[in-house]
Formats: sequence, structure tokens, C-alpha cells
Amino acid sequence: MTLKLGTTTRNTQQRQVIKECIRQLSHPTADDVWHCVVDKLPNVNKTTIYRNLNRLVEEGALQRFMTADGVMLFDSTLEEHYHLRCERCGRVFDVEPILFDQVAEIVQQKKHFLITGQKLIFSGICATCQDARAAENDKATAHAKCVNANQKSPIFFEGEKPE
Ligand SMILES: [Zn+2]
Ligand SMILES: [Zn+2]
Repeated sequence: MTLKLGTTTRNTQQRQVIKECIRQLSHPTADDVWHCVVDKLPNVNKTTIYRNLNRLVEEGALQRFMTADGVMLFDSTLEEHYHLRCERCGRVFDVEPILFDQVAEIVQQKKHFLITGQKLIFSGICATCQDARAAENDKATAHAKCVNANQKSPIFFEGEKPE
């Protein structure tokens, strides 16, 4: 009896830590969750973590979704929302489900299909990566200007040299 109670307590603790990790990491993979949990609870079994992850999803305490390239991600935000996934750094951001009700209504009218949920993921480039790219471009432009300034005479192809 004592042992059973101990197991339950351990399970509850594990599940709490799993949820904490998912909140912290924002849309991690099962492997990311495992690394995070084992940091906080050493001696934890990987299979148990995976099993608890699946249970939490089945119970509706977590969401999971698949990206276009087949990566399974976990999410602690249960409200309806869309995702933005950065093609450069792979980070996933939440965004409010803009116009979701309108889309659902149009689909219901035109296709007689009742939408109960969505897994919409937009791909693109996040603000941080855009800034990084802009900085790279600035550097490239500055470099090009520098190269041009160093060119003493224009380059001609053979036979094109003016007299
Ligand atoms: Zn990014
Ligand atoms: Zn999300």
C-alpha cells in the first residue's frame, strides 16, 4: 500500500515537472522534455516520461502537433491558437487564432463541415532571425562598397578594351 502511494506521488511529481518543462521550453520535442525533466529529477526513466507525456495528451492536459517536416511538438497552451515556426532557428511561437470563427463559419456554410479544431502552423522567419539577416546584409553591402572603392580601373573583357 505504501509503495503504491509512493509510486502515485512520484508520478504526480513527474507530471508536474513535465508540464513545467513544456511551459519553459515552449513547444519542445519529447526528447527535449526528457532532458529537461532528468535535470530536475535524476533517476527518472525515459519510458516513464514518454508514457506520462502520452497520458497527459490523452487526458487533455497537453496538446501535441506535428510540423510539416514530421517533428512532434508538445504544447501546454490548451486554448485554440495558431503557430508560427521559424525556418531558420526552428523556434515555435503562439499566435491568437485570428479569424478562426469566420473561417469555421464559411467552411460550415460552403462544405457543411463542422470544424472542431485546427493545427495551423505558419512557416517563416522570426524577428530575431530577421534582425540577424539584416545585419548580415548590411555587412555584405559594406563589404561590396569597400571592394568597389578598391578597384582602381574598371574590368574589361578581352577585345572590349576601348582605345
Ligand atoms: Zn528564428
Ligand atoms: Zn502553442
